[in-house]
Amino acid sequence: MRRRRNAKIIGTLGPSSNDRETILKLFDAGIDVFRLNFSHGTHDDHAKTHSIIRDIEMERGRPIGILMDLQGPKLRVGTFANGKEMLVVGEKFTLDQDPTPGDANRAPLLHPEIFAALSEGASLLVNDGKIRLKVLEFTDSTALTEVMVGGEISSNKGVNVPDLILPISPLTEKDRKDLTYGLSLGVDWVAMSFVQKPDDMRELRGLVGNKALIMAKLEKPSAIEHLDEIVQESDGVMVARGDLGVEMPQETVPVVQKRILRSARQEGKPVVVATQMLESMILSPVPTRAESSDVATAIYDGADAVMLSAETAAGSFPIEAATAMSRIIVEVERDPYYRKSIDANLPTPGDTAADAISSSLRHVSSVIALAATFTWTESGFSSFRAARERPEAPVIGCTPNRETARRLALVWGVHAVVHEAVHSIDDMVPSAISVTLEEGFGEMGEIIAITAGMPFGRTGTTNMMRLTRLKELPT
Ligand code: PEP
Repeated sequence: MRRRRNAKIIGTLGPSSNDRETILKLFDAGIDVFRLNFSHGTHDDHAKTHSIIRDIEMERGRPIGILMDLQGPKLRVGTFANGKEMLVVGEKFTLDQDPTPGDANRAPLLHPEIFAALSEGASLLVNDGKIRLKVLEFTDSTALTEVMVGGEISSNKGVNVPDLILPISPLTEKDRKDLTYGLSLGVDWVAMSFVQKPDDMRELRGLVGNKALIMAKLEKPSAIEHLDEIVQESDGVMVARGDLGVEMPQETVPVVQKRILRSARQEGKPVVVATQMLESMILSPVPTRAESSDVATAIYDGADAVMLSAETAAGSFPIEAATAMSRIIVEVERDPYYRKSIDANLPTPGDTAADAISSSLRHVSSVIALAATFTWTESGFSSFRAARERPEAPVIGCTPNRETARRLALVWGVHAVVHEAVHSIDDMVPSAISVTLEEGFGEMGEIIAITAGMPFGRTGTTNMMRLTRLKELPT
């Protein structure tokens, strides 16, 4: 079973989709990686969906990626005595650390870390950015603000502080427990929310080790300021447009999206464009034209993957959303302009043997009509670097490690296959031929280009390329 497209699709699971029948249909409709959102659900809920996905993986005989998404520090206002109040532009409103329920003049904000980082003129955004307060003066436990954009404020609404770097780790106690649990289940990617600085990713790497790959969700202005370094510290990044659009002015989101795509493409780190991609499909069986166009733009710009959130987690049409997304990607990739724009924006190869081989792979695939490019990989490294080159021929990522194959499910163009270990080129060439034929990537007589690293069994050593014709193997 193979997909007829290069860009991948991530689908978030939730109440609309966490039963076996729906997950199977979602996979068949095109979901390559399932996202377990730890902002919702219990550990038992996630264990159940995890085991369904692994079961479907066996049934379909294809590696499936699982991405765990850590909630991160969600900041919230406290409660109001009347449940809610109306804030009027120009009036004063105080936030403090007194837990007494709030009224029209004040409300509790029980986050000492916010007060520790406050500055005069900073913005505090409440309820998805709908209310904007400007800090006039503050102490270490109160902040007097002016209402810049008013509206209804109610108990426990979310708070964003785009101008501040909070003196906290983006890993809360809950995240640490969730992470230990997710890693014990066996997830392939871990996404961290509200990353502020490169050290945040180093901290996550220290906890995850080599048990999974790590992804930075880019949703804070401070993360965008340190973009290139955060990309370098991560294995992949996500343009988390939901919170990004609250923390930064809406009109900057498309500009920042393109900047993140360029930075991640240059580093060869998979990049995911997420949130509200087919939002109307939560309630409608067809997307709007603007949504189709948004997905298409992400694909033209070179995204590795596009993500469905509430569309698959809580919507009425999860299968239709996955199908629509897949169709849009196929259509874009068929457009000759897509290839032109991908080629025009190719990243510069690094000064390494792996990149010299990978860029030759692309060159060969544009000169000879290759049936496939075949990357033999232990850690996935060769396939990541080959995918960075966006070759015209499909990339088969063949590995003896099931974990590597699952991680590659997120990477542009890579069809991952698990195969027993090989120990020499004489072993590898016949294996590459039989895998290419069995997986339906070529016909007898066609040519494939194989890349690998020698000595076999060591990671990060990509240093050879071999062209071979698909032929009958001696039995
Ligand atoms: C986002 O903010 O866009 C995002 C993907 O994160 P979450 O779904 O956790 O809000």
